Amino acid sequence: MQTEELRLDGNAAGGVLRELFVQDMTAALGTCAGCGATGPVATLLEYGHGMGIVLRCPTCDTPVLRIVRTTGLLRVDLSGIRFLSIPSTIDE
Ligand SMILES: [Zn+2]
Repeated sequence: MQTEELRLDGNAAGGVLRELFVQDMTAALGTCAGCGATGPVATLLEYGHGMGIVLRCPTCDTPVLRIVRTTGLLRVDLSGIRFLSIPSTIDE
């Protein structure tokens, strides 16, 4: 199977991200640690496989976010994300 056949966009990870962050994270802005590009999580490229989900930067291909589900746990590697801006539902 070709890599491109496994690739979706960040919207495909919306369900697991909602479980992890409680709210829809696809509109959150992430800054790539590899190249500094900033954009909505929905624009990251998802590579799903049996071991979990990898969301890669569409600009430089850095793995920005990795999620692995094990028994009773969601393990998250955010080392590829420099900054994450999450829309707040609370007005100050
Ligand atoms: Zn990048």
